[in-house]
Amino acid sequence: MTTPTTTDPVCGMPIRDAEYAASFGGRDYQFCSSTCRARFVVDPEHFLPTAPAPLGA
Ligand SMILES: [Zn+2]
Repeated sequence: MTTPTTTDPVCGMPIRDAEYAASFGGRDYQFCSSTCRARFVVDPEHFLPTAPAPLGA
């Protein structure tokens, strides 16, 4: 219905239960398994579509 759908940023699966969660950049992300969560924690920016990249070097 109007339930907001959360998607696992690692594998793209829709998340129903927030059993595996991690915070990054002030936001909370949820995962389908501890494996996906572990992969995200190691390299969060790899799985985020828009990572704030500082420019002007
Ligand atoms: Zn997953």
